[in-house]
Amino acid sequence: MAVARKPRYVDVSNPSLSVECPRCGLRTARFIDLCRNCGYKLWPSSYVASAAFKVWRDADPARRDASRFDIEIPVEPVDTTIDYAARAHDLGIHLFPNSNYPFIICVGALFLGLAGIPFPGPARIALLVIGGLIFLYGVVGWVLVEDVRMYPVDTPPTEEVHH
Ligand SMILES: [Zn+2]
Repeated sequence: MAVARKPRYVDVSNPSLSVECPRCGLRTARFIDLCRNCGYKLWPSSYVASAAFKVWRDADPARRDASRFDIEIPVEPVDTTIDYAARAHDLGIHLFPNSNYPFIICVGALFLGLAGIPFPGPARIALLVIGGLIFLYGVVGWVLVEDVRMYPVDTPPTEEVHH
């Protein structure tokens, strides 16, 4: 196994995973043998660079997840879950509640549309009445029942800003 017996001195107290290339001056990975920008040889070989990286990584448990191909130590994943309902409430944005009533509204709209076909006799009136009732039931249920439940009246009214 080709293991570097005498890894070049590595400053383990330096927490940086990146280094400024002595030739091009750009920031590059510290433990890759070649500069990524200009190809300048930072380490005698890839094995030496890898051995140096392992020494550097094992010097601090916080560097456990570091990769020598990165130029920054990965940060702890943050919980980015957002409660959009609460956020909208804070911002005073009105969200419609999650609801099945829109489906009922659509069924009502279907019958209303059928009532538009010039059927002979009272069929159109019957379709109009059925469609209208289903449609109104859906609208009332969604806007007047569920919406009011989601936004109770006791919430403080947003103060108007006068310019
Ligand atoms: Zn360079």
